[in-house]
Amino acid sequence: MQYLSTRGQVDHIPFTRAVLMGLAEDGGLLIPRTIPRIGAETLATWEEMEYTELAFEIMSRFIDDIPNNDLQQLIDKSYATFNHADITPLAHCGDLHILELFHGPTLAFKDVALQFLGNLFEYLLEKNDSVLNILGATSGDTGSAAIYGVRGKERINIFILHPYQRVSPVQEKQMTTVLDDNVFNIAIKGSFDDGQAIVKRIFGNVDFKSEYNLGAINSINWARVLAQVVYYVYSCLHIKKHENQSAVDFSVPTGNFGDIFAGYIAKKMLPEGTIRKLVLATNENDILSRFVNDGVYSTADVKQTTSPSMDIQAASNFERYLYFLQDGEPERTRDLMEEFQATGRIDLTSCKDHICRDFYAKGVTEDEVRETILHFYKEHNYILDPHTAVGVHAARKFQRQGVPMICLATAHPAKFGDAVDAAIGRQPDVPKALEGILEQDSRCELMECDANLIQDYLKTHARHG
Ligand SMILES: *Cc1c(COP(=O)(O)O)cnc(C)c1O
Repeated sequence: MQYLSTRGQVDHIPFTRAVLMGLAEDGGLLIPRTIPRIGAETLATWEEMEYTELAFEIMSRFIDDIPNNDLQQLIDKSYATFNHADITPLAHCGDLHILELFHGPTLAFKDVALQFLGNLFEYLLEKNDSVLNILGATSGDTGSAAIYGVRGKERINIFILHPYQRVSPVQEKQMTTVLDDNVFNIAIKGSFDDGQAIVKRIFGNVDFKSEYNLGAINSINWARVLAQVVYYVYSCLHIKKHENQSAVDFSVPTGNFGDIFAGYIAKKMLPEGTIRKLVLATNENDILSRFVNDGVYSTADVKQTTSPSMDIQAASNFERYLYFLQDGEPERTRDLMEEFQATGRIDLTSCKDHICRDFYAKGVTEDEVRETILHFYKEHNYILDPHTAVGVHAARKFQRQGVPMICLATAHPAKFGDAVDAAIGRQPDVPKALEGILEQDSRCELMECDANLIQDYLKTHARHG
């Protein structure tokens, strides 16, 4: 499989180069040249497969520059850290299926992709005899999943900036109690946006970036999308096998459009109609649900909600979908993204039919999130985290008789205990991974919000090839 950029200036590169490039060199996003199709017969032979076997079948169709044995080993190693035999099990609550994606080390769905990406980086760096210094800013969840993805790895150091005392105590401890030598947590005296701006500044320093082999781990990396395609197919197969239903809908709590874009790829791969619709669920930061419903993609101010991992207004993966919406025309994609950059708005009303073939969408209010958590708990004795509740609420609106609805559960409720408590009047049970975490030893550097200071810190602690 060859990869190309949505903006057309990078083309014919193999998977491993696409992974190491991250963002395409022309500013676009990398995508596979074609989407492999899976016929009904092939799909039927996958029904009995374990998660890791299925992951190999899917990923190997997008990767032809890693030997099969190595790829299977990378996959096995990545999912051995999950604490459930099915990796991403389905829970059945009334007429909804809850796809639990939170059985990885940091209890959020980002582990599914970042455990794999960490091992993949390690493997590629070994092959190329090189090193990587990962730099990122986090508002909470991504930081810990990224840190757990690369902790203890020989050729990688990771530097994660978080806003001092503006992440939850559990989120802070999930990052700072990882004491491996290659992990550097920096609390900055500022906001998440300040952290993001510092990271952008440092990445903008091209000489520094190449001298220190700086890399990013954010959701634009194609390997992350690819790893997420697997659980869509896995849960379709589960429903086919256990309920003999061959068409399903998915509801996806959405922020950066990464997870639901993986669903879109799965939809294109599988036989027509296997995935009927994708429900795009946002919180009150509703740029994407407005886009689906009105055909206009336009930013607004970011609001703080109880589902902070979705408090996003410009979705970093949106450009990939836009490229498909423009029938794979890189010039039009680039022009539209430039227009969005300049004006904060693009009008895609002429594409409405196309959009509605694949998606439904709803923005969910904070009151609706609270009510959903409460009702679900009363009815099914099952505790939803606030992100998952956004998806469940939207799913209810679009659910159709006779079509199973699978709701993606993107975080364990214990990660957002206070929001859950506010809804149901008790804290969720604390899973083993979080037990005693607040009392554990931690390590973190507190720094002023100053890009030069942070760049100097990186110089001192960077890994050298
Ligand atoms: C990141 C995240 C999301 C949003 O996923 P995107 O790929 O950004 O759309 C939803 N829920 C949780 C818990 C997350 O951490």
